[in-house]
Amino acid sequence: MMDLTPYRDELMQTARQLLEVDSPTGYCRDVIALIQQKAQALGYGFSTIQKGCGIITIPGRDTSKTVMLSGHVDTLGLMVRSITEDGMLTFVPLGGPIVPTLDGEYCRIRTRSGQVYTGTILSLSPAAHVFPDSKTRPRVPEEMAVRLDAVVRKKEDVEALGIGTGDFICIDPKTQITENGFLKSRFIDNKGGSACMLTLASILSNRKLVPKYNTLLFFSIYEEVGHGAAYVPQQVSEVLAVDMGCIGMDLSCTEYDVSICAKDSSGPYDYDMVGELIALAKEHNLSYAVDIYPFYGSDVSASLKGGNNIRGALIGPGVHASHGMERTHWEGLKNTLALMLAYVDPSAMSR
Ligand SMILES: [Zn+2]
Repeated sequence: MMDLTPYRDELMQTARQLLEVDSPTGYCRDVIALIQQKAQALGYGFSTIQKGCGIITIPGRDTSKTVMLSGHVDTLGLMVRSITEDGMLTFVPLGGPIVPTLDGEYCRIRTRSGQVYTGTILSLSPAAHVFPDSKTRPRVPEEMAVRLDAVVRKKEDVEALGIGTGDFICIDPKTQITENGFLKSRFIDNKGGSACMLTLASILSNRKLVPKYNTLLFFSIYEEVGHGAAYVPQQVSEVLAVDMGCIGMDLSCTEYDVSICAKDSSGPYDYDMVGELIALAKEHNLSYAVDIYPFYGSDVSASLKGGNNIRGALIGPGVHASHGMERTHWEGLKNTLALMLAYVDPSAMSR
């Protein structure tokens, strides 16, 4: 089996690069531009669809069939709802963050004219020395606001900065990579999976491997709000979503495994495709888990609901504490990358 250890640093640094670019769902142009740069550097074609998703095209040996791997690069975020009389920003969530974990987090506010301000997400009872309910006030959007790092005393001062309703608030991902292989960050869902996709492209390009079928790497946006890959190019007959694997309760996945999802909230994944992925994982001695995801929908769910004539499956590295302070490990990413490689080019893995 191909030794993927030499790609550890590349994969981790690609994840870091993706995480460094703010891409709250609905504002993904910068991260798509980064992916375009990387695709072109590898010598692959790149295109975008109308709503902004990016596609890397990798020609295959058999051009009669086209498969697609889909990873979303949009993340959770917040949007400015209104400005308070004393110059704080009230907000609404984009997607489903665990809101209490946002208390105290740093953020960046991007105005419609492109300026970026920093701030901190706080409870409306933020001071222990003043508010009797500082420790008990519910950490829900209605009871929280963003404190801007700007001298603002009233609503008009904030408006004068160019900040207004509808501006994106990007949450600091706080990315760290530890010596012993952990990737700690918000938004590993799904910049972890997306980094695996870019590393796959890099391996194929550098080793001059040609996948079995024409292969599209689809970088979706708007996944966190449910319609990421709702549109799939017409020639695609199967879609493998590469997203995070769930961990917790009676699920068997860990941060060291590739998770193969049998069913999520949108229903069962394609029976044969799931079986084929399990067989590939076994054949290549990958550390894997088959699980059901209790609260989850993927790009494949969106594709099927969008009416596309495809079969689909879902895999990804096990991610702990999803939509909060997430963590995964190189082993989980490596097993995911190996399964992706086995899927697109079964012969590559035995070389
Ligand atoms: Zn996801």
